[in-house]
Parts: sequence; C-alpha cells; structure tokens
Amino acid sequence: MSDKITISGSGKLNVPDQVSIPFIIGDGIGPDIWHASVRVFDAAIAKAYNNQRKINWLEVLAGEKAFNETGNWLPEATLDTFKEYFVGIKGPLTTPIGGGIRSLNVALRKELDLYVCQRPTKWYEGVPSPVKHPEKVDMVVFRENTEDIYAGIEFAAGTAEARRIQDFLKDDLSVDYNFTNTTGVGLKFVSEEGSKRLIRAAIEFAIAEGRKSITIVHKGNIMKYTEGAFKNWGYQLAESEFGNKLYTWNQWEKTKEASGADAANAEQKAAEAAGKIIVKDIIADNFLQQILLAPQDYDVVATLNLNGDYISDALAAMVGGIGIAPGANINYKTGHAIFEATHGTAPRFANTDSMNPCSVILSGVMMLDYMGWSEAADAIVQAVAETIKEKTVTVDFYNLMEDATLLKTSEFANKVIEKL
Ligand code: NAD
Repeated sequence: MSDKITISGSGKLNVPDQVSIPFIIGDGIGPDIWHASVRVFDAAIAKAYNNQRKINWLEVLAGEKAFNETGNWLPEATLDTFKEYFVGIKGPLTTPIGGGIRSLNVALRKELDLYVCQRPTKWYEGVPSPVKHPEKVDMVVFRENTEDIYAGIEFAAGTAEARRIQDFLKDDLSVDYNFTNTTGVGLKFVSEEGSKRLIRAAIEFAIAEGRKSITIVHKGNIMKYTEGAFKNWGYQLAESEFGNKLYTWNQWEKTKEASGADAANAEQKAAEAAGKIIVKDIIADNFLQQILLAPQDYDVVATLNLNGDYISDALAAMVGGIGIAPGANINYKTGHAIFEATHGTAPRFANTDSMNPCSVILSGVMMLDYMGWSEAADAIVQAVAETIKEKTVTVDFYNLMEDATLLKTSEFANKVIEKL
C-alpha cells in the first residue's frame, strides 16, 4: 500500500491511513515550534483514529538548514518531494539577502502554482486582543497568491530597463507622466483566469462551509483595469456559474436601475431567505476601517495579492497576533498545498523554547481538515481553546493577560495533548 496522497480525476484527494507528509522545520524559532506542534498532531491523530491512522513525517530541506547542508537555499529535491506528495507543511524561513531568490516562500508558491493563500481569522476565548469585541471576527481571507504588483516585476531607478519601459510608455503609448532618471518601475498584472480561479475557490469554500457572504475587496475605483476588473470578473463568475446559490450586489444594482431600490431590497431579502450567499464588494481602504467598526458584516473575503497581505495581518492582530495566525497556500486544481505559520523566524528568540506554537498547530489543523481528517483537527482546536481559556499560555499572551500561567513552547504542547 502506497504512503502517498493521490488525486482522483474529480479533484478529490485520496489519503491513505498511513500517509507520508513532507515538512520543512524552518529557521529561527522554527525548530522549537515544530517540535511542539508535531507531538500535538501525532497524539491527536492516534487518539481520534484509535491508532489506525498515522502520519510519517518526511523532512525536506529549505532555508538556512538547506544552505548549511547543501549550499542551496531551496534544493530541487525539496520541490520535487512537495510535488510528489501533494500536501506539506513548513515553518518560517529566513529570507536570503542577495543571491537571486527574492523569498523562499514566494519561490515555493510560484513553483507549485499555489494560487490561493488562505487565512482564517477567528478569536479564541481569552486571547488578548486590542479590540473590544474580537469575538465578532470570524473571517477567511482568500488572497490571490501569484499575480499583482506583488509578483515583483520591477526595475530600479536609473537602470537601462527602467529607462526603456519609461521611453516605451511615453513614445509608443503616449502616457502623460513625468518620468525621471530617479523613477523606479513596478508592473502590476492581473488576469481574468488568475482572478477567477481565486474567486472560484472562495465561492466554493463559502458554499461548502455554509458561510453567509463573500466580499470582494479591491481598489478598483483607482486601478480600474486590474483591481476593478478583478471585481467585475468576480461578479461575472458568481452569476454565471453559481447563480442558483448566490445573490450579488451587482444584481441588486441592476434591479434597482430597472425597478427601483424597494424591488432590489425585496429581491435580496428573498435571496437571503432562500439561503443564498451574498456576494458584495468593498474598496480596500474602507474595508480596513469596516473590519474595526463592523467585523460581523464580513465572512469570506476574496482579494488581490497585496491587499490580502495587509488585510490578513490587520485581522490577525485583532484576534491575538501572528503567534496564533495559521495559513495555507493551495492549488485547488492540482491539489498541491503547503500549510504554514504566517509569521517569520523571529531570530532573536531562536532556541528559547518560549514562542507560541499555535500558528503551526492551527496550520496543521487546516492541513488535517484539507486531508479530510477532521476528527483529529476538531480535537486539536477544542484542546487549544481550552488551554488558552485556562490562561496557561506562552509569553506573548502571558504579557497581555492577568493572572495567567507562563508556559514554555514545549509545555504548552504538553497541556494541549493532555486535553485531547
Ligand atoms: P517575525 O514574524 O519573524 O517576527 C516579528 C515579531 O513577532 C517577533 O520579534 C516576535 O515578537 C513576534 N512573533 C513571531 N512569531 C511568533 C510566535 N510564534 N510567537 C510569539 N511571537 C511571535 O518578523 P521579522 O522579524 O520581520 O522577520 C524575521 C525573518 O523572517 C526575516 O528573515 C523575514 O524575511 C522572515 N519571514 C519569513 C516568513 C515566512 O517564512 N513565512 C514570513 C515573514 C518573515
């Protein structure tokens, strides 16, 4: 019997009971939080499935450890293993300074075409938060992961390439702009296919999970043919492929135009009563204030790469910060997925056994759910929630709580395992 995940024609993952999963241990605090997390995963799986299921962890190299052992920051063998085994998990990696690789994370996402960056943000009772009602936050951000200005196609000021692009824009396209020798250039590309595959993933998730709304967050009032097009393609997709399950603000606008606001409101009410999910849109800057003012109005969020980067950190801060923020990079078509903590390597705290392992533990929860091992995932969530509620926490939460008990990373994992 093979120990590998396979994917069937319909796109369903087949996960053997004894499955091999590749992992990157990560740099800095990576080893501390990985060693704690993996014990939680193994214990939860053994208990949930009465030892009938098990993950064989397969270490692959990336980052400093890879560089020290092989002279290569991201060995080809690592990419091949992730391709072959479909699902993997990673700790944070140092970003090499100089030397051609902009970021190891970006390279991994690009190589496997992991076009969805999926980040749930939900508050756990007792977690210290800077907002009054963190319990109102329960969103899942779908951030486009391959396009946009974030793809990093840019040229430094004063280079021949920057000059050529500026000359082309001025001379061939009659762009009216005061280019100078000190102007750097960054290019923003957003495609219909790239936008639709991301928004489709958000819609399918919202339907499968019984969510209430999908909000397309964009800056299309200014960047009409990239961010504006993202919104338009989103509405097009929602109406043409999922019309019987969704109701869009675009439809509301059309009905209002044709028959007035009362008719449009009645139509939306009827759609809601019939259990349809509302698809709406909002300008990114307004969204950043609305998540503070009325977070309960937002549920699944679909957005472009750079917006998604800002939004997910802002949301993470509202529910306890990056120590507890999980994430996943997924290609829902090929099935490839890499789950990861969203924070960095926090090098000052390396080998101190003090940082919060929840980011990796909850990334593992997302992975188990993705594999269909939801019983183990649910047990971990409940055990983490109880551990935090009892105020037995790592230093990041301890510093912000009253009457809490300070635990090391490894001790926190022990507590979670006791509660499984
Ligand atoms: P960072 O996320 O590593 O750390 C910032 C601060 O956040 C830390 O000083 C610490 O106070 C806190 N923090 C981070 N993780 C925590 C945890 N698990 N528990 C409690 N507190 C935690 O950001 P940085 O210092 O800007 O970056 C350090 C390195 O990490 C850089 O090389 C950067 O490129 C890299 N990085 C990697 C990733 C990734 O691999 N996904 C993401 C971001 C940054």
